[in-house]
Amino acid sequence: MDYPQSYDVIVIGGGHAGTEAALAAARMGCATLLLTHNIETLGQMSCNPAIGGIGKSHLVKEIDALGGAMAKATDLGGIQFRVLNARKGPAVRATRAQADRILYKAAIRSILENQPNLAIFQQAVDDLIVENEEVRGVVTNIGLRFFSKTVVLTAGTFLGGKIHIGLDNHSGGRAGDPPSLALAQRLRELPFRVDRLKTGTPPRIDAKTVNFEGLEAQWGDTPRPVMSYLGNQQQHPQQVCCWISHTNEKTHEIIRGGLDRSPMYTGVIEGIGPRYCPSIEDKVHRFADKNSHQVFIEPEGLNTHELYPNGISTSLPFDVQLNLVRSIKGFENAHMTRPGYAIEYDFFEPRDLKYSLETKFIRGLFFAGQINGTTGYEEAAAQGLLAGANAALQAQGKEAWCPRRDEAYIGVLVDDLITMGTREPYRMFTSRAEYRLLLREDNADLRLTEKGRELGLVDDTRWAAFTEKCENIERERSRLASFWIQPGSDAAQALSAKIEKPLSHEYNLLDLLKRPELKYADIAALVAEPEDAVCEQVSEQIEIGVKYAGYIDRQQEEIDRLRRYENTRLPLDFDYSIIEGLSNEVKQKLGNTRPQTLAQASRIPGVTPAAVSLLLIYLKKRG
Ligand code: FAD
Repeated sequence: MDYPQSYDVIVIGGGHAGTEAALAAARMGCATLLLTHNIETLGQMSCNPAIGGIGKSHLVKEIDALGGAMAKATDLGGIQFRVLNARKGPAVRATRAQADRILYKAAIRSILENQPNLAIFQQAVDDLIVENEEVRGVVTNIGLRFFSKTVVLTAGTFLGGKIHIGLDNHSGGRAGDPPSLALAQRLRELPFRVDRLKTGTPPRIDAKTVNFEGLEAQWGDTPRPVMSYLGNQQQHPQQVCCWISHTNEKTHEIIRGGLDRSPMYTGVIEGIGPRYCPSIEDKVHRFADKNSHQVFIEPEGLNTHELYPNGISTSLPFDVQLNLVRSIKGFENAHMTRPGYAIEYDFFEPRDLKYSLETKFIRGLFFAGQINGTTGYEEAAAQGLLAGANAALQAQGKEAWCPRRDEAYIGVLVDDLITMGTREPYRMFTSRAEYRLLLREDNADLRLTEKGRELGLVDDTRWAAFTEKCENIERERSRLASFWIQPGSDAAQALSAKIEKPLSHEYNLLDLLKRPELKYADIAALVAEPEDAVCEQVSEQIEIGVKYAGYIDRQQEEIDRLRRYENTRLPLDFDYSIIEGLSNEVKQKLGNTRPQTLAQASRIPGVTPAAVSLLLIYLKKRG
């Protein structure tokens, strides 16, 4: 049957990518349909119930700055909040929240259900309707045909999903969920390059069977950070403690003894796993000289006794899992509520995507999330938002948008994926961004909210809060710049204990803030009236802006220099074979990636500066 209504955007999959994609398209005014296997699993965290962390919170804040749901749901579901790298510079500071997975899911579902222009339908998609290399809609497993202008596919680990526990394996999308086999088969008939990756999860533990005595307790931070720019601590539910334990020699011996029944070490699993989130058997094998690894023991929620032992992801047979768990301090009598497992799934070569995350071969079809070779909720959600927004733009007949590498971690993520592809699950780190000092988690709104408003992603409430913040920053900067301190004055005296060199001449307060030993609070105290008090979001921007001005300006100059390359577009069907002087290797690399701009071409590994110059000369001659 053909469904009577047609849509602008259909999103397949209600995970982290799919929910942000559907919300973004609907916020932009498009008639949107979210089709997912099971409405009860909307926004489900397949693995660790935590959001954020280094590099990842930057993405969460960018999603938030563009009106997305992830940070808001984290504030509503977060049961422990911490700032990582708090003592390091602002570029690498990151917020991490442990979440109650039920509260998080409920928050996402409520945001989805209350979003105008968005319909949700529970059904597996088995097929895509494609005509003349253009997507027209989807077909579900009961033969329902839904038509749309664009489709965003966000099937996560479900395509051809295969779950491994020891040498046993079975088909599955994740534990308890069916795989997507018919759709995987259909996609393999289309001209995409497909390969396999794998990821894994630890067994879960019943807290009632754990001995917490002697384990190191870890509480969240005070003052407690919030995730969303619009969030506040009053939204947070009850906060809880986490604990730390360690593996030991006995644990490692048990693991080594089980490797002959490990699907990874016997070659049963072919897909490559996440390098930065290795299984415990991988850690014991690769770092044979280490006799202990940390295990973070994290509650799964407020109304459950289940614990997530972060650090012992495994696909070893059940008996080995039970023994290794019970060898760990505190877990001597532990009952496992679920076994750990690994999952192998199909992913697509991300170099077959454009910056918009539209596929190069099928017009109107966008890919986002784990299927593009990434791992992590935040990476998936960021791509989802971008793909949903671009699907909406296309449906509205408008030009695609993607932030540049110097504007957002979302830009870094997409550029890395579509330029270099990936052979292993890709996760975000601050080290992947060359303009780290510009791309801080504290200024994601200043970088992106205006663009989000222009695209229709940002609602009136967020826009009002944002413009007020910008005005407050400007007002406070001017106030500090117009307040002068004379050497020997009362104000100078008040500062004397804090400054290293006494004032030699008149200073305004903004200039004085450049001194490394002074903080905003020291300066503001000199001129503070109760009505002058600004919130931390404002004072933080002023302080970072002043203290890092030199570095920030230098990064900006470099960006401006390279802007020419960013603005030089390369057609997707460009024939690189006809450019004289390019080596066959470079021609092949350019042909494999089909870059959209000269800047992207210059970032392909193996494409030399000389090759970029040849390309530039050729393009100039061609006019
Ligand atoms: P998912 O969250 O997987 O969502 C996919 C959605 O699509 C699901 O709702 C599914 O029901 C739906 N769907 C699929 N096919 C269809 C179809 N044909 N029709 C309708 N609906 C469909 N990340 C980390 O950062 N660290 C980890 O340690 C980690 N470990 C993991 C361990 C396991 C076992 C798994 C499964 C994942 C792990 N991840 C980990 C990855 C993390 O879960 C994903 O990166 C993230 O969930 C990807 O989001 P997504 O939206 O792309 O896909």
